[in-house]
Formats: sequence, C-alpha cells, structure tokens
Amino acid sequence: MRTGGFHRRRTAILMALILLVTTAILPASADSAEKEIEIEPIAFHHDGFIRGMDVSSVVSLENSGVKFYDESGNETDLFRILADHGVNYIRVRVWNDPYDSAGNGYGGGNNDVATAAQIGSRAAKYGMKLLVDFHYSDFWADPAKQQSPKAWKDLGLDARLQAVKTYTAASLETIRQAGAMIGMVQIGNETNSGIAGVSDFDDIPKVFTAASEAIRAFDGDILIAVHFTDPQNTATIKWRADWLDQNNVDYDVFSTSYYPYWHGSLENLTDVLSYAADTYGKYVMVAETSYAYTLADSDGHPNTVSDRNNNTGNDLLWEFSEQGQADEVRAVMNAVNNVGEKGLGVFYWEGAWITVGDTTSLTGDAYTQRVNENRALWEQYGSGWAASFGGGYDPDAGSYSGGSAVDNQAFFDPSGKVLSSLWVFDKVHEDDYILGDADLDGTVSIMDATAVQRYLVGIKYFSPTAKRAADMSHDSKVDIIDATRIQRFLAGFKDE
Ligand code: CA
Repeated sequence: MRTGGFHRRRTAILMALILLVTTAILPASADSAEKEIEIEPIAFHHDGFIRGMDVSSVVSLENSGVKFYDESGNETDLFRILADHGVNYIRVRVWNDPYDSAGNGYGGGNNDVATAAQIGSRAAKYGMKLLVDFHYSDFWADPAKQQSPKAWKDLGLDARLQAVKTYTAASLETIRQAGAMIGMVQIGNETNSGIAGVSDFDDIPKVFTAASEAIRAFDGDILIAVHFTDPQNTATIKWRADWLDQNNVDYDVFSTSYYPYWHGSLENLTDVLSYAADTYGKYVMVAETSYAYTLADSDGHPNTVSDRNNNTGNDLLWEFSEQGQADEVRAVMNAVNNVGEKGLGVFYWEGAWITVGDTTSLTGDAYTQRVNENRALWEQYGSGWAASFGGGYDPDAGSYSGGSAVDNQAFFDPSGKVLSSLWVFDKVHEDDYILGDADLDGTVSIMDATAVQRYLVGIKYFSPTAKRAADMSHDSKVDIIDATRIQRFLAGFKDE
C-alpha cells in the first residue's frame, strides 16, 4: 500500500491543525472542544487489527424505543455510527431458544439466531464482519453457568455432540443467508467450567471439536475462537491452552475476557496471550472488555461499576470519563498488539446498551414511575439483562431481573447521542492509504472516481479511511470536486 508521494499518514500535527481550523470556523462551544479525546495511535502489526464491538442488545433496545444520534444530533443507524468512528467488526451472542413455553423472551436482547442474522446483515451494510458468539445455552453462559439448552437436556453425550454440529451449521447458514459477513465463530462463551451442559473436563473438548468440525465444513475461511476468562489466574489460563492441544481441538484464536476491575494487569494479559501464541501458534484476542465513562446510573438498574462497586482497589489506571474510557480501550488494544503478529484484536462488550428511559435527573415519585416504565419495556422487549420470564430456566433471572448494568460503559449518553470516546476506534490506528484511492484497493484508478460518485448518491459506504483517501481537495469533506480531481489526476495532471 505504500507507494510514492501519495501515501499519507495522519500526524498529530495535522490533527491539531484541523482542530484549530475547525474551532476557528465553526461556532463550536467550549464544551465540544473539551470533549475531544486525545489518543496516540498504535503501530499495529497488521492492517486488519480487529477494533470490534458487541452490540447484541441493539434490536431489543430499538424495539423499546431507543434511538441513536450522531454528533450533530441526527438520528442515525447505530451500525453506521460505529463504522463512521472506526469500528471494523461486530460481535453478537447467540442463544438456542431464549423463550419460555408461552413465547416470552428471557431478556438480555432475546438473542436468538434470527436476531443475530439481523445484526450481522446490518453490520455488513457498513463493511463490518461478524463474530458469531455461540453460548450453546438458552441464556447467559459464563464462568459460573453453562446450562444445557432445554431441547438438549435429555441427550447423552454422543447425541449432544451431533446436536451441536447440526445446530451450528444450520445457524451459520441462516446468518449468512441474511447477508452477514461471518469472519469468526466463537465456540462457547467464557467456557471456564463447561459448555452446552457438559462439565466433565474429558468431555468439554469433544464439544469444542464437534462445533469446530461443523464450522470447518461450513466455510474453511472462518476463524474459530475459543473463549475463557480470568486471565489473572495465570497458570490456569495457560493450562487451558495446553489442555486444548492435548485434546487435539482444532481452533485458530485463543481469547479471553479482560475487565480491568478484576482481571489483573495489562502486562499479565500480554503474557498469558503470548503463551498461546508462542507455544501453539494461535492468534489471540480479547473477546470482551469495557470501561465506565461515568459512575452514574441512568436506568434504575444497578451498574456493575458504580461509586460503591468495582471503582476502587484494583489499581485502575484510568479516570471515569470519556477520555478514560477511550484510554482503556487503547491500552487493551496495545496489550494485545504487544503479543506481536498473532495479536488479532479486541472487542468491546455492549458499547450501546443504554437506558430505555433516562432516570438521571429524576427523584422521588418521578424516578419510581420512570423505573416502572423501564421495567415494563425490559419485560416486553427483553432490553434489560434479564426478564422475569427467564426465571424458570435461570433462577438468577427470576430473582434479579432488570435493566442494563452497563449503561455507564456505553459509548452513547442516556439520550442515545454518541460520546467522543467512540473516536478511539478510529484514532488508535494510523491510516495507511494512497490519496485518491477511495475504494482502498491499493491503486488509484477510474474505479475510485466511480466510488466517489456512488458514495455521493448514497449507494456506497465510505469508512473514515476511505473518506480521507477520497478527499483530494483536502477540505475535510468528500464531494464531486474530489471525483473530478481523481479523473484529472488519471488524465495526466499529476500535480493534482
Ligand atoms: Ca443501569
């Protein structure tokens, strides 16, 4: 991609200049200038470093009336906002059957295969690939619980392995048919203690293998990821890589969750990921991370991180602000990149799980009323972490059903407006493009002028990098002048 004088990289000086000019021309308030985040780019080992986001709850949120807005306050598709800010991959969880016998959703987004297909198809419109995160359960699978799907509860091991295979293949087919670009599949979620109702450590690898075989048969180009957590238990998580190897599990990506409140230092994170990369040649990634931009709650359901919970005592390195949230994302990406060539990327967990009704400024009866309205939406549309209907399957859902525990870790404020911190996904990488190469295929050709024209009539999406590559006239916008300048350049006006 590096060719001659047209190769460009953003520099801190250029960004400062743009900021200066923008501030001078636009009637920008001091407030918006203060909210501009500063992020030092990372020298990634490869262009495709995953800067991903899990937004599994988005459909249930939209059904509850939530809307998302860009910086100018324009209502915009969430997936477009994410892509416009540099997110390049979407992760979605999939539950086999998150409904009770009467058809009521368990909540947590009611993320069945059809929902995943819809999310994957919307991501593809903006050029984002999909990581399909199979929980092989009907509701949340995590280190503490790996419950069997209802439909599999009476199956013996062999029949269960066959069910995993059949279900995996059929689900991927449905998701692909919807138009999703499936780049990676996760075979289980935080599978520290089991998977698909199987908890014997001699049998767990057989479930991984069944899933893996189904994915390989479906499409040999899809990356297969395993997912564990508790990287702070260094010896244990390294042992998991040995265990997978000893059991001949065929996979590509060794991944862990990394929540800085609980999961040890960044140096340790790099160390445990390097072990899987160096010893077994696996790609490595962080499948989930997040960080709070505020300690305030905005939906009436207690947050995982608040001024009484998880906010101190763990040597947290970042302030609870938009800048701090962005800094955490950069730091985790840097820790993965420090592994070397095998450092594949980072996914942020549920960066859009905002409130369905803002409680922030309410008190007394008004607060109570709003929370009750929110609860009705969580129950009806599944937009909280759990609806009461999940109680028959997961007792925790029955006891503690409610809303979002991570609304203060989203990249959107309670009204749905994007926060400046989302820019970390774009700013963290140095652009590598040729001026005029609007379609980013490595050369400037007439196709680039066509791409600009297609972009201008709204039938082609341009990523932030594509917009910068297309901006021949250096005026921070893409218009017909840029298409003309590409044509003039090709016609021999090389000084353009
Ligand atoms: Ca909350």
